[in-house]
Amino acid sequence: MDKVVTRFPPSPTGYLHVGGARTALFNWLYARHTQGRFVLRIEDTDAERSTQASVDAILEALEWLGIDWDDGPYFQSRRMDIYNEYIGKLLESGAAYYCTCTPEQLEEMRKMAKEAGGKPKYDGSCREKGLEKTDGAVVRLKAPVMGTTVVEDVIKGNIVFQNDELDDFILLRSDGIPTYNYAVVVDDITMGINTVIRGDDHVNNTPRQILLYKALNIPLPAFGHVPMVLGNDRSRLSKRHGAMSVTAYRDMGFLPDALLNYLVRLGWSFGDQEFFTRNELIEKFTLDNVGKSAGIFDMEKLQALNADHIKAASPRYVSKHLLPFLKEAGCEAEEGEFLDKVVLTLNARSKTLKEMAEGALFYFPDTVSYDEDASKKFLMESILEPFKLLIDELKSLDDFTEKALETPFKTVMEKTDLKFGKIAQPLRVALTGKTVSPGIFEVLEALGKEKVIKRLEKAVQYIESR
Ligand code: GLU
Repeated sequence: MDKVVTRFPPSPTGYLHVGGARTALFNWLYARHTQGRFVLRIEDTDAERSTQASVDAILEALEWLGIDWDDGPYFQSRRMDIYNEYIGKLLESGAAYYCTCTPEQLEEMRKMAKEAGGKPKYDGSCREKGLEKTDGAVVRLKAPVMGTTVVEDVIKGNIVFQNDELDDFILLRSDGIPTYNYAVVVDDITMGINTVIRGDDHVNNTPRQILLYKALNIPLPAFGHVPMVLGNDRSRLSKRHGAMSVTAYRDMGFLPDALLNYLVRLGWSFGDQEFFTRNELIEKFTLDNVGKSAGIFDMEKLQALNADHIKAASPRYVSKHLLPFLKEAGCEAEEGEFLDKVVLTLNARSKTLKEMAEGALFYFPDTVSYDEDASKKFLMESILEPFKLLIDELKSLDDFTEKALETPFKTVMEKTDLKFGKIAQPLRVALTGKTVSPGIFEVLEALGKEKVIKRLEKAVQYIESR
């Protein structure tokens, strides 16, 4: 079997939305699973609606998701010579022809077809005229008028179309710009694409594309149409269901691997397994398990999966994606062992990276600012003595690990006759400024000896100066 070659061909008329990302993902995963090739193509023939900003946004979103391509990005707008070359071939073989029908004539045809109770379509007026290229002429495909065209869909099974419903559609417009159906086929042929996986909103285009392959005498790729992603009211996912763009999910604090996992599961399954790492997806993804029914986007499920990924991922991976959130909050954090430790104290209690960043802020500044109620309640004179004892004990402790930290605590508890909670909560306020934080021993270990002692000394000063 030849190497699988798939593609993702977005139109740069906006950001990359989650539905598009899922299509990209299926193609990418299938190429990676089969050790094939994944091609990126920008379909920018609509000059009015295509923008560089959209191209940049799409590439940024794909890169963030970690969907890498082996070939491209190709731009359709730079491939006009190739489209013209194939038009030449089609005209020469008689599979295509020039048509000079005016908009008024076309309108008249549509009207007549409707009146006759049929679907509006081009009536083939110019088919046999042998017209030459003139201003205003378009090129049409001479499509078969009888019989059927069958899409052998690898996901949906066979879909049969009556050829008399597929009229002589336009390949090249009068301004020389190729239509979507034509450019896609020429591109897919010249880029060696043999597997086309796309949204089922394109299913009606596929028989037309098949006619073109046949006219060019080129073997068909495998086609698979994936059901659309729906919102929770079962209508097609749109803005009113919530954020649509991939980067909006990045900015809300989702890990790329979590979004990836969630999007694949919206239309693909592997038993009842929900959680997949990126490598597991590559290993397990095949087209056999792509479902026939639409996936429903559920924010709560996505959040739960994100929490699972934050917990399971390596601290370095999490910290890499956490950094932008910390920076945004004005925090001078950097990748490294300290940040890894910080992540480890928070990864079991954060649904999003945004939440994690908020919870991590106390680790970084030179001085902690105390929550007013917390300091009133817990930073009182009665804690001065225990704090001072604890400072002495900690100063002589070399092994600053959770386990070893229990001993100085015990000593202070014995000497002061205080219960654990009576020391731990004021200590938490001294170290974090708040009454809620990760486990106190985890915080101690992550902060490290120097910072802990500095913060405790500052708390002593604070209490004494009040
Ligand atoms: N540019 C088309 C789209 O974004 C591509 C469709 C296809 O995969 O052929 O919908």
